[in-house]
Amino acid sequence: MAKNWYPIINEDLCTQCYTCSNFCEHEVYEVGEDGYPKVLNPDNCVEFCRGCSKICPVEAITYFGDN
Ligand code: SF4
Ligand code: SF4
Repeated sequence: MAKNWYPIINEDLCTQCYTCSNFCEHEVYEVGEDGYPKVLNPDNCVEFCRGCSKICPVEAITYFGDN
């Protein structure tokens, strides 16, 4: 699992649809009290997976560690 690779949500773009948090099977995300998905367990993210960013309808997800 990745210590230097995890998603970053752009809350200015996010529509709180939860496609990302429902899709990820690795318990990386939790929905925060403000309604936005939060990266609760960044170390669980699979390096170079990019699965959640590919299905985010508004391209709100980038990755720490990506160039
Ligand atoms: S899939 Fe995109 S728009 Fe939907 S909750 Fe996740 S970051 Fe926000
Ligand atoms: S990149 Fe993959 S493992 Fe990481 S949060 Fe997104 S779907 Fe989950």
